[in-house]
Parts: sequence; C-alpha cells; structure tokens
Amino acid sequence: MDKCSFCGRNRKEVTMLLTGVSGHICDECAEQAHKIVKEELKLSTDSVPGEFNLLKPIQIKQFLDQYVIGQEEAKKVLSVAVYNHYKRLTQTEVHEEVEIEKSNILMVGPTGTGKTLLARTIAKLLHVPFTIVDATVLTEAGYVGEDIESLLTRLLQVADYDVKQAERGIVFIDEIDKIARKGDNPSITRDVSGEGVQQGLLKLLEGSIVNVPPQGGRKHPEQKMISVNTKNILFVCGGAFEGIDRKIGQRLNTALVGYGAIKNNENLDRDNLLQYIAPMDLKAFGLIPEIIGRLPVLTHLDPLDRETLRDILTEPKNALIKQYKKLFDLDGIKLSFEKEVYDFVVDKAIEFKLGARGLRSICEIIMNEAMFELPSENKKAHKVTLKFVQEKFSHANLKKLKAA
Ligand code: ADP
Repeated sequence: MDKCSFCGRNRKEVTMLLTGVSGHICDECAEQAHKIVKEELKLSTDSVPGEFNLLKPIQIKQFLDQYVIGQEEAKKVLSVAVYNHYKRLTQTEVHEEVEIEKSNILMVGPTGTGKTLLARTIAKLLHVPFTIVDATVLTEAGYVGEDIESLLTRLLQVADYDVKQAERGIVFIDEIDKIARKGDNPSITRDVSGEGVQQGLLKLLEGSIVNVPPQGGRKHPEQKMISVNTKNILFVCGGAFEGIDRKIGQRLNTALVGYGAIKNNENLDRDNLLQYIAPMDLKAFGLIPEIIGRLPVLTHLDPLDRETLRDILTEPKNALIKQYKKLFDLDGIKLSFEKEVYDFVVDKAIEFKLGARGLRSICEIIMNEAMFELPSENKKAHKVTLKFVQEKFSHANLKKLKAA
C-alpha cells in the first residue's frame, strides 16, 4: 500500500496522500513542509540586506528615474542615503572599530515638485518598514495634538508591531518646516508647534529609546507603551520652507559684498536660489541648530518648468496620459492625443499656478465627457484634439480648478 515518504503512514491513516514521481506525501507532512519553507524564507529576508544588497546607488536612481522626472540631485542623494542605510544595517552589533553613523535627510523644495513622490517611490523598492507622517499634527506634551513619539506608531503598525523590524525602518516626515520657530525672538510666548516640538523630535532623530503609544494619539497613563530604539531608523524630512529663498538671497548678497566675497555673482541663478541652500539658511528660517545637525544630508528640489511638466504628463511609468490610455484600452478603445493637447494642459497648469498636482485636475476636466460617453459607443478609437479640449475648457467650471 502507498505510504507517505516522509512520515511512513499509509493511505488509510491520513486524510490525503499526494503522489509524486517517485514517492508520496501526506497532507500533514505537506503542511509541515510549507511551514518550514515559509519560516526559512522569512529568515533569509530578515537577514538584511538580503536581495536589496544587489541594488547599488546607480540602480536605485534608475528605479527612481522611472517615476520621478528631473530632480537629479535629490534622486542621487536619496539613492546614496538609502544604500548606506542598508549598509549600516549589516554592521553587526559586535563593536566594530568604525561605526557608520546614520545620515538623516532633509529635502527642501516647493510643494508639488515630487518630495512625497520620491519617498513613496523609494518605499516601493524597500524591504524595510516605511511610513510617511505629517509633522503638522505634532505638539509639545501638554498641548492638544499628538505626541512626538506617535510618529513611530505608524512605523510599528506597518511592521505588524514587530519592534525589531520597525527599528530599522525609514520614516518620511512631511512638512517639517511647519515646526520651525516663528519669528527670531525665542522668548516670545511659547509657540505650540515650535521649539518644544523640535526638541522632542531631536530625541527621535539622534537615536534613543522612546516609548511609543501603540495606537498613536496622546499618551495616557493606562496605555501600555512599546519601547523603540531609534538608533537605526532613517528619517527623511521634507518641507517647502516657503520664503527661505529670501534668506538664501540675503546670505548670498552679504557674501557678495563682504569680505571674501564670491566673485562670480553673475553666475548666480536667481530664479532658483534653493539650489544654494545651506544649513545656516535653515537656522534663519527657524530650525534649531541641533535639529539641523541631525539632518546632515541637505538637498533641494527644483521648481518644475514647462518642459518638466510636459514630461511628467507623458513620461513616468504611471504617467497620467498612460493611465488614461490604459483605462480606455480596457474598454477596447485606442486613445490618442494631438501633441498640442499636452502643451495646452501644461499651459493651463502654469496659468492657474497648479504645478504638477494640477495636471490631473485639468485632465479630468478634459477627459470626463469622453470617459462618460465612449464606453457605451461602439468606437474602436478616439482622438483627443486641441479644438475639442479648448472648447471643453471654455465651458468648464474653472472655480473647481482654483480650489485644487
Ligand atoms: P510634494 O511632496 O513635493 O509637495 P508630491 O510629490 O506630492 O509633491 O507631488 C504631487 C504630484 O505631482 C505627484 O503625485 C506626481 O503625480 C506629480 N509630480 C510632482 N513632481 C513630479 C516629478 N518630479 N516627476 C513626476 N511627477 C511629479
């Protein structure tokens, strides 16, 4: 009688016996084998960096290039930082002579230029827990709002409360500029979202053991806290820092007239002063020096010009135009556009000062009617013409756009 080649029980003693080329396996042994395989796989991905090690900074950037247009400097800086993060994680706990310190990152750039997109794209290829949190919800202890430690709650959640995993994750803190001290005089009434929050954040950034409320929000005495060591957590911060270009300008001007002045002031690109950002500008903006010191990698994002916007519309892997084409394709309709339509959309995004975020709202206005009618018609192809788009736009309710 057939027997399980693993446990030796015969067909009568088991629920099911599967037959292979030269043997059999019973249901219980198959299940057991499945568990072992799963466990083994988990172990091998746990031993960071595992497969990620294969990705070098150049490859990480190539991956980013598929989704993010332009922003060369930021992409390079991020690629290196993430790569180094993984290298740090391979350092064993045994005290090595040279300990690589973590390099938290600060990305400064106008809204809608791709900071969050960069962070999200990085997350796609990561094998460590990753989360995006918003600095605006933070307050100092004693005020209404969320405690600083709650930034790590989300990280714990995405790591399924596996503390070890969370402790090597990456946290993207958006709108970090919103916790800058307002005004240069630190002694005016304590501002809720200001220096105190920065002090609190400092603790997380530099690496310490913090007590995290598992459900987030405010701590309360009955709640059991989870201790998390932030030593290996990489923090990537982003912010628009509106008005910081004036501070950069002032600093550069002083440097131009002062002792040791920069000679080549004609070469200064005054339309994009952000590219010259330095730590002292952040201080002038209202970040405390300790925080600046804990964000040693400082990079900027460029404003999006006409050409970049046009590329954003058509080039990225999940570009808007590609998405529309795909949507229609699913209905068996081949969608195409007159090239002038792209320029029209970009012009409107610029005219309404909507940046890349506006591209979508404008496309929706243009495409809505076609998306409504075409699936019921028996057409095999549809071409969006400039004439049609102009007409559509002249009748559209543009108030909606302004609010976007
Ligand atoms: P930020 O975080 O800088 O305010 P986002 O990353 O949220 O801006 O950008 C908003 C949207 O605009 C993104 O979802 C993306 O569709 C588009 N976008 C912005 N910048 C770029 C870029 N450089 N490349 C491709 N798409 C971009």
